[in-house]
Amino acid sequence: MKYILDASAIISGFVDNGYTVPEVIQEVKDYSSEFTMESLIASGKLHVEEPSEKAVGEVECAVGKTNDTLSDTDVRVVALALDLDGCVVSGDYGIQNVCEVLDIPYESAGVKGIEEIFQWEFVCVGCERKYGHALKECPFCGNRVVRRRRRIQKKANMTGCRKGEKS
Ligand SMILES: [Zn+2]
Repeated sequence: MKYILDASAIISGFVDNGYTVPEVIQEVKDYSSEFTMESLIASGKLHVEEPSEKAVGEVECAVGKTNDTLSDTDVRVVALALDLDGCVVSGDYGIQNVCEVLDIPYESAGVKGIEEIFQWEFVCVGCERKYGHALKECPFCGNRVVRRRRRIQKKANMTGCRKGEKS
């Protein structure tokens, strides 16, 4: 099994037949200069690859369906897992959530993984109006809009991001 690692996975020490994207290497270096990525790469424990455009598009499609706020780096990590048919290692719920939608196996680095898919919804703390996207303040009453998790079952309309998937 190929393991595709995000920065948290590498920092927590999970490096075993690891694969990642160049942006993660930079994030880990920004986090701590103590990490000697070069020796990991030289020893063959960590491989650095670019995901395909096609896989990035499929992941962006899934992110759009769950309303997750994944960074570009996160998207590319998940896309590389699609390309390599590997397992994502990440403690990030957003990443795990998108993996669920795309049927990509994942392991959490140190944290328990999720068991259900959830979708973000954005709720005004004043009038409780719900929005499908992030807002600074509610256009109706001016109160703060907070992000909250809504548990959902995996629905038919959440599939279809993977090319060649039976629908
Ligand atoms: Zn409001």
